[in-house]
Amino acid sequence: MNKSIQSIRGMHDILPKDTIIWQYIEHTLKSIVHDYGYKEIRFPIVENTNLFQRSIGEITDVVEKEMYNFKDRNENSITLRPEGTSGCVRAGIEHGLFYNNQEQRLWYYGPMFRYERPQKGRHRQFHQFSAEAFGCTGPNIDAELILITARCWEKLGINKNISLEINSIGSIQSRTNYRKKLISFLEKHLKKLDHYALRRLHSNPLRILDTKNHATKELLHAAPMINDYLDNDSHTHFSKLCQLLDATKIPYTINPYLVRGLDYYNKTVFEWITTTDHNNKKKTICAGGRYDTLIQELGGPSVPAIGFSMGIERIILLMQAINHEIFNKNIHNDVYLINSSDFDIQKHAILISENIRSEFPSIRLIVHHRKDSIKKQIHLAYKNKTKILLILNEENFLKKTIILKNLQTNAEEILKLHEINTKLKYILNI
Ligand code: ATP
Ligand code: MG
Repeated sequence: MNKSIQSIRGMHDILPKDTIIWQYIEHTLKSIVHDYGYKEIRFPIVENTNLFQRSIGEITDVVEKEMYNFKDRNENSITLRPEGTSGCVRAGIEHGLFYNNQEQRLWYYGPMFRYERPQKGRHRQFHQFSAEAFGCTGPNIDAELILITARCWEKLGINKNISLEINSIGSIQSRTNYRKKLISFLEKHLKKLDHYALRRLHSNPLRILDTKNHATKELLHAAPMINDYLDNDSHTHFSKLCQLLDATKIPYTINPYLVRGLDYYNKTVFEWITTTDHNNKKKTICAGGRYDTLIQELGGPSVPAIGFSMGIERIILLMQAINHEIFNKNIHNDVYLINSSDFDIQKHAILISENIRSEFPSIRLIVHHRKDSIKKQIHLAYKNKTKILLILNEENFLKKTIILKNLQTNAEEILKLHEINTKLKYILNI
């Protein structure tokens, strides 16, 4: 036998038993952003490589080692999107969505690709749900995005298992100032820095702040803090954001080491972290921040912006860890139409089923199409968690009747064809 072909490492199929969970999450998130007035935008999953290099920044984990870069047949360098903000901004500029400082509140959802070492909650194809708000400078829009995410956790039933960390990384100018102080501090402790930190010392020292290396973490306790170097505007912005979160009763912790992995952020950055995990390892479920200069850097007008992205696979892992009720839900069918293998009867069954569907568009109805005995079909109907059986055997066919069995009460009766719809309406309460 030929060896079967498998999916690419780190890229997973989502099977029918799991799609019910995905659909539940997608539906919940989409309806929340919709209710806040956000509109969906869709853009391609491949972009020119230089878009990501320019927006995310050259000296970042993503651009240095996680991107799926390819040459197309014309030798153009293209990349599978590792995140959505770059493509969203590119599309907005290209189609004039930011002309005249227009406000845009957008959301998108879909697969992202990063060449990382696959492990629990870390895949090479994963899914993000994101929102981006363009054209608002104030901390009120920052608060709105955080409130949206908080509402998502509440609706998904994971709000008790997740906590908010926020920080301000200031303006580009104040960061330049802080950067110098941080470099000169770290230069005094070169021996305690790992390869990762040394590589970033002069190119992107702020990234060292979110290191996972224990020794570097220790060292950073004595390092200058970014909060002490904030410009006045960023300082006021951040303190107003804190006031808004206090007023709306969103608990948060200020984490001075939170800087985020991509270069384009300024002022507010935030992350939602799990407080529940099997291995006691905290995981970031959702991350976001302001990026007021990115649109201009990518050739567009000067438009302030902020956004967040949540990782759906990590939300599912958390829901699994807390044994969320959605994992025990099954899809139920309303009606299962059983028929015999005679062609005329099959044709008749299809006509009856289409008539029911036209009358009741919300009904979930399965018509049996394989050549099985009536007994086996009934067995399958039970397995499919059905409320009502409709049985069309030869005798009924000839007499122009049908058997209806209500599996909730076990009551069985023979109906004339024109009585079916009224009966279904009554039993299913529609
Ligand atoms: P991490 O520090 O875990 O690598 P990140 O900072 O690279 O995360 P972001 O770029 O901020 O992540 O992406 C936002 C969210 O997308 C993350 O909080 C996470 O939930 C999810 N995410 C990122 N990378 C992956 C991945 N490889 N597999 C699954 N989910 C991911
Ligand atoms: Mg990462």
